[in-house]
Amino acid sequence: MTESHGTVWTKKDLIAIADLSRAEIELVLDTAPQFVAVSKRSSGIKKVPLLQGRLVVNWFHEPSTRTRTSFELAAKRLSADTLSITAAASSSVKGETLHDTLANIEAMHSDVVVIRHNCAGAPLLLAQHHASHIINAGDGRHAHPTQALLDAFTIREHLRRRRNDPNAGLDGIKVAIVGDILHSRVARSDIRAFTKLGAHVTVCGPATLLPPEVEKLGVTATCDLREAIAGADVVYALRIQMERQAAGLFPSLREYIRLYRIDNDSLRHAPEDAIVMHPGPINRDVELASEVADGPRSVILEQVSNGVAVRMAIMHLLVNGGAAS
Ligand code: ASP
Repeated sequence: MTESHGTVWTKKDLIAIADLSRAEIELVLDTAPQFVAVSKRSSGIKKVPLLQGRLVVNWFHEPSTRTRTSFELAAKRLSADTLSITAAASSSVKGETLHDTLANIEAMHSDVVVIRHNCAGAPLLLAQHHASHIINAGDGRHAHPTQALLDAFTIREHLRRRRNDPNAGLDGIKVAIVGDILHSRVARSDIRAFTKLGAHVTVCGPATLLPPEVEKLGVTATCDLREAIAGADVVYALRIQMERQAAGLFPSLREYIRLYRIDNDSLRHAPEDAIVMHPGPINRDVELASEVADGPRSVILEQVSNGVAVRMAIMHLLVNGGAAS
């Protein structure tokens, strides 16, 4: 078994960061670097046989580019067989229940089922009734645990490089999460992960896009962008989720841009070495200016690269409990 400071992975599924202890989060982060190295191999095969002969099913009920391809690649780099099911092309459009669809997938002996669903709670429901390892790839506004783990890993790697300290962690750093907090499962999962790892999190956006009582999650909330990003080590911009907006949550896009867009001008209020993150897809020049997204402070593509390694780590831990790493 892989042990990170004595922690052993015992979970069958990954549904939400809320279910993980700090030690379990750190175990995932400590397992990922070996898989970063696999993906970076310049000669030889970018694969390890840890899931050889296993079946990983990607089952997506909502659009996705990064997460779906990242899981698929992660499974392939672990040498698993992969299948993809998209809702529009599956029997759910004919009225088949989630349970029946999964029972049929399991009749083909699936080992891991990665599910994205617009209904919060769907992955948990399936995990409680089925034997496959279920990974939540985003459920409604609820959770997106693998995004939070890859974000925490990206921040930790950055801190380790910047401080030249191989043991640096998130303890005591300030992370400002800016934008549509209300509709964001990424914000909810990031808040849980970052605070469990000891970071101070400030959430910022128009009052209508801040969930009521968000402070109960252990964060500071503000509508003032300058206050949010002052002293921040990380500025995390979120997408305005047009598809989940009830009408009228902010008066106009122009006003949102003026008050909350992360651009070179607003970033003058953040420390010079603050990094900028975004989960993608970006509404360019709405929540994030292109000059920043493509600029030197952006670690957005590092997030994408790390996503594959972190998802390899999670699938390995779920299936093998960390054995034979
Ligand atoms: N890709 C992320 C998600 O699925 C973020 C977003 O869509 O804005 O939640």
